[in-house]
Amino acid sequence: MKAHDGLYIDGAWRPAESRDVIEVVNPADEQVIGKVPAGGALDVDTAVRAARAALPGWAATPPAERAARLAALRDVMTARKDEIAETVTAELGAPPQFSQTVHAGVPIAVADSYAELAATHSFEEKVGNSTVLHEPIGVVGAITPWNYPLHQIVAKVAPALAAGCTIVLKPAEDTPLTAQLFAEAVHEAGVPAGVFNLVTGLGPVAGQALAEHPGVDLVSFTGSTAVGRQIGAVAGAAVKKVALELGGKSANVILPSADLAKAVSVGVANVMSNSGQTCSAWTRMLVHRDQYDEAVELAGAAAAKYGDRIGPVVSAKQQARVRGYIEKGIAEGARLVAGVPESPRERGCFVSPTVFADVTPEMTVAQEEIFGPVLTILRYEDEEDALRIANGTVYGLAGAVWAADEAEAVAFARRMDTGQVDINGGRFNPLAPFGGYKQSGVGRELGGHGLAEYLQTKSLQF
Ligand code: NAD
Repeated sequence: MKAHDGLYIDGAWRPAESRDVIEVVNPADEQVIGKVPAGGALDVDTAVRAARAALPGWAATPPAERAARLAALRDVMTARKDEIAETVTAELGAPPQFSQTVHAGVPIAVADSYAELAATHSFEEKVGNSTVLHEPIGVVGAITPWNYPLHQIVAKVAPALAAGCTIVLKPAEDTPLTAQLFAEAVHEAGVPAGVFNLVTGLGPVAGQALAEHPGVDLVSFTGSTAVGRQIGAVAGAAVKKVALELGGKSANVILPSADLAKAVSVGVANVMSNSGQTCSAWTRMLVHRDQYDEAVELAGAAAAKYGDRIGPVVSAKQQARVRGYIEKGIAEGARLVAGVPESPRERGCFVSPTVFADVTPEMTVAQEEIFGPVLTILRYEDEEDALRIANGTVYGLAGAVWAADEAEAVAFARRMDTGQVDINGGRFNPLAPFGGYKQSGVGRELGGHGLAEYLQTKSLQF
């Protein structure tokens, strides 16, 4: 795997001030596949200065030209799709086919959507005797996680570029090679020097320095609620805008009228995909008591079929964390119907596809985000009970409702405290706003709502 030994700052790869490095490990065989610099506070400062210097020029670039750079970026990513997929597979462990269609395919679609939005968005509007200008918010500090390594980057960088902002990106330490590949693509797409900058590094060092930097106008963070809370506090103290995309514990509500077999099979697939490392995964399946035993049986059989088809989780640390939750589930009295607490293979950070039945709402495995291939199945008495359980966590990122009648499902979805709901298995829409209610976050990503996060308004009165 190709790794740069520098940081991409002001249009070129430059040696880091810090001598520290991060070793990148392939979780499938636990071999080191590359080393990247672990940038420090000085490196972050250099990158923020470059972004600040580039801001007036990029902010004044006509939206049509910004759109052209985004279209070029989409084209470079498309031309390098295989390389992107191979890199994600190597450092995250995702199966090759999933890396192609999702890890490479979705970011290309998102880059495409922002090429279109930059060209068509109205950056000025008339309100009575005022003209309202939608201006770029300034320098963006973007901090991203490893689970969808390229998607999380593009979901921030593409709208920021469309808005006329400049960016410093600090990607997750587990997946920096994908971020380096993205920086190459930005360069190839002809984005001017300093508009996009990449500092690889550790969260509590480079990430914290970026979040605290006075030269950053907006901190856009995707990651755990624990770190998001810290970043929100730092940004709040500095009166700087913050966008937080955090964790989830989403409910898949199967109403009694639904096609049970379909709802269970799609529900299991949703949790197992990406080895359960999806913030919006439907990790709690809610089933009416009369259909509960049948659903458990179907889910157990479906999960068993995943056996070798899912990849490892991202790291040994993550594997230990997920296994800890599985042991906790057993200790709290949940019944294991698929999976084993031990590692299913001798080598690599694998976790078996796991299904827990007899899960009650207060159990740890029903409340906390596990971020592994672990499904919990909860029993409800009636619709009110289902709603109470569905809304009964600190999170509110996503969810699903299944019913024979779409209107019945929609009526239930309207009462859910969550940012996204898929009705009867509705498809992912890269233009729909994505983000959380409650402790799942602040702000929205994707589409026009995602673009608005990177703009601020100025009203001119006539
Ligand atoms: P994490 O919070 O540990 O790390 C996320 C990023 O923050 C990384 O780049 C990390 O280096 C950085 N970081 C860590 N400590 C920091 C600090 N003190 N200051 C500044 N930056 C710091 O999360 P993770 O383990 O990488 O990712 C998994 C989490 O991300 C899960 O909780 C998942 O739900 C969440 N997630 C949310 C969404 C969403 O859109 N809501 C999407 C994907 C992942």
